[in-house]
Amino acid sequence: MLEQAAARTGNPSLKKFLSLRARAFRTDDYFESELAWMDLTGTPIEVAIGPYEVYTDRLMGAKTAFESFVTLKDPQESAALAKYKNYLKDMEANLPIEDRYKNFQRGFASPIAVAEQVHGGGDNVPGVQTIAFNLPNDERVREAKGAKKVILSNVLGAKFERILKPMGSLVLEPDQAARVDKKYMQFETLFHELSHSLGPGTIVVNGETTTVDKMLKEQGSALEEAKADVAGVWNILLMMRKREIPEAEKPQLFATYFTGIFRAVRFGAVEAHGKGAALQYAYLQDKGAFRWNEAAGRYVIDDAKMEAGVRDLLHDILMLQANGDYEGTKAFMGKWAKLDAHAEAAVASMASLPVDIRPIYPDAI
Ligand SMILES: [Zn+2]
Repeated sequence: MLEQAAARTGNPSLKKFLSLRARAFRTDDYFESELAWMDLTGTPIEVAIGPYEVYTDRLMGAKTAFESFVTLKDPQESAALAKYKNYLKDMEANLPIEDRYKNFQRGFASPIAVAEQVHGGGDNVPGVQTIAFNLPNDERVREAKGAKKVILSNVLGAKFERILKPMGSLVLEPDQAARVDKKYMQFETLFHELSHSLGPGTIVVNGETTTVDKMLKEQGSALEEAKADVAGVWNILLMMRKREIPEAEKPQLFATYFTGIFRAVRFGAVEAHGKGAALQYAYLQDKGAFRWNEAAGRYVIDDAKMEAGVRDLLHDILMLQANGDYEGTKAFMGKWAKLDAHAEAAVASMASLPVDIRPIYPDAI
């Protein structure tokens, strides 16, 4: 099939990728085809196919499952977002930690695309529908060429309309609920992905070189997901200061972010995104970023305290990572990663809203 498609396309980069990928399926060596995938250019067809994620291997977290995404790129939207990758160095410099903990070693090349998914297969079909992917995972390709971030705008749009938007009215007072905005769900998704490439990675603990992942063990992934969420907001605020995004829309950013915490909390307290979201809820509430209005039975966000709270939380998370502090992370999670009665009630009020969507793709386009 890949070879037939390669014979059909007139685009040389797509032809090269499809041919090399077909060969990789026979040889089980994907390196060259991953490089070709990063070099795809001049075609609206953005197709990812291969053994990618290890989420379904619950035993060792090592075996990748095969999946595929067939998507059509939106050239205008892609061009509009592509400029943000040029700010990755500024984002690293702007992290709220001392300079000696910042990480300027990583590659800062990162193609960004906005695309509509027209088909999915394999591991992409069951479970939570992804709204973005950041591939490949092969560190050798990442060092040579970075990683490609693709936002699936139609999947994201469906989750916004069916889940996030109606959720806003259940958690926020009406005037703040009206600020929940698809544009900011898309920005938060993009800056979440970009933020995974920021902050401490390789670190020195007691004179030995190691990595954050190794030091934080099973505590690491929930902390890392919370970091990407919070750093995502922090970096959007930076883009507002740089006048790339309107500063007057801070209330939309915070309303969308706050409601998004509840969307993630529903994935459950054992799942990394769910646990990371509970941490953000409790920590930011303690900082006064929002309060419960008893009469309205809804939350009210305090934008100034939210901004300060995001800064403090990001600082604390990054320092746990910079120090590779396993015990500290465990204690931090133990203290904050839990919901109170109001949050439990808010989640219960969402019972009629779907937790996720199930797409039906067309047979032809
Ligand atoms: Zn993430």
